Amino acid sequence: MTDRTSWAGKPYHPISLDYHQRFGSKVVKVPVSIADTCPNRMGLKGMQTCIFCDEHGSFAYAESQGLDLAKQIEEHRTKVASRFNAAKFLIYFQAYTTTFTALGKLRQGFDLALGYDDVVGVVVGTRPDCLSDAVLRTWKEYSEKTFVAVEVGVQSFDDDQLTWMRRGHTGAQAIKGIERIAAEAGVDTGLHLIFGWPTETDKQVIETARLCNSLPITNVKLHNLHVLEKTPLADMYRSGEFIPADLDLYSERVALFLDHLDPRIAVHRLVALSSRWDELIAPEWVRHKMKSWQGVIDRVNARGAYQGRLFGV
Ligand code: SF4
Repeated sequence: MTDRTSWAGKPYHPISLDYHQRFGSKVVKVPVSIADTCPNRMGLKGMQTCIFCDEHGSFAYAESQGLDLAKQIEEHRTKVASRFNAAKFLIYFQAYTTTFTALGKLRQGFDLALGYDDVVGVVVGTRPDCLSDAVLRTWKEYSEKTFVAVEVGVQSFDDDQLTWMRRGHTGAQAIKGIERIAAEAGVDTGLHLIFGWPTETDKQVIETARLCNSLPITNVKLHNLHVLEKTPLADMYRSGEFIPADLDLYSERVALFLDHLDPRIAVHRLVALSSRWDELIAPEWVRHKMKSWQGVIDRVNARGAYQGRLFGV
């Protein structure tokens, strides 16, 4: 859907629209965790924990980590159902690097999730260099009977930024991983991107949008680089090595990105919305979820920006 009139007044193509079109009613994601680590945390090939990643591997429900999967699905589904007034769900294997766990565990997780009548598909979070042939075959197999989506933590395509955040992969590896998912699994693919890097330029943001436009993806999720307790970034912030982007600067980045993003690409969100703000150190402007989201929207609107405004220019 590329018609702005269907975006409910938002300056971007909301993913909720695609879900509604695909499933015929409102659908929300239910985060769960079956992984308990990732290549970075394991220190494989000299890798280190990504500088922004908290001890829960970016999982929304840290208090449930370690609970059996059925219990997680049922508890978290109840929470999101009442919060978003939804009756259909996608089970989102969110924490750490899900494809770093045993494939059998992932298959069991899919089977369990898809056994619920109100679950219409599965979503897997992973990183671009953790895509075995067997994982891709499994996604293809399940996509023949249900909706399978993958969210790839790319964060940036710039190698200097990737090195600075200790991702342990390059921009070229990210592109290759995304293309492999399309060619070998053919499943719905989205990217997680972070803006607010110290060295970030307008040109980079525009290039990122253009690269997204050229890749076989259907959606993106934007995060502002923010500082959480017990992360390497917390030390960098306290020593003055990192200063987070303020609301105006971050909103400028988002506006620029949206302006150049193909309107066919759906957007999950424009700003990080964590569920553990007690762990937030900085910036202060993201402490209040709806206020920070609205703050970005207001500034994007004030600039006259909207998704696709400069697409192809
Ligand atoms: S962001 Fe992902 S890859 Fe990086 S340390 Fe966290 S769980 Fe591991």
